[in-house]
Amino acid sequence: MIEDIQIVKATGLMINYYYVCKRKLWLFYNKISFENQSDRVILGKVIHENSFKNLEGKEILIDDLIKIDIVNKNNIHEIKLSDKMHTATTMQLAYYLYYLKQLGVNKEGVINYPLQKKRFTLKLDKNLEYQIEETIKDIQNIVKLKKPPNPEKKDYCKSCAYFEFCFVE
Ligand code: SF4
Repeated sequence: MIEDIQIVKATGLMINYYYVCKRKLWLFYNKISFENQSDRVILGKVIHENSFKNLEGKEILIDDLIKIDIVNKNNIHEIKLSDKMHTATTMQLAYYLYYLKQLGVNKEGVINYPLQKKRFTLKLDKNLEYQIEETIKDIQNIVKLKKPPNPEKKDYCKSCAYFEFCFVE
């Protein structure tokens, strides 16, 4: 329900981080920030700025919560550097579709990985809606914890902005 979303104020990035790492979600929400201008971050920005220039409605911010890369008549698009975090990207886009539906706007989603020349479509269904609602509830519990969840080493930790904070003593 939209009311729940407003209480939690889950952003698209928070939904994404929930599926990447619960500790990262907690650190981000609690404003412990080490995001930097790494080559990868800069490359991501360049790709966002230069991809799909012919599509209308680039980067739309709604309610200060969700920032959609591209909106057009039937679809919303999410553009990412790689498909390494495909589940997180899928759930981020599903949240956008869910949020728009609460506003009376029904669209389908498209995930674009321009460097890999890959494209996936996404339709919101009851199962995805349920997953989003459960995710939002769980996010509320996680971000209110007094301390962050313990670090758990994953393949991608080394490319995370919090790596040194989590693992270097
Ligand atoms: S370094 Fe690993 S454990 Fe630490 S916040 Fe990043 S993804 Fe999570």
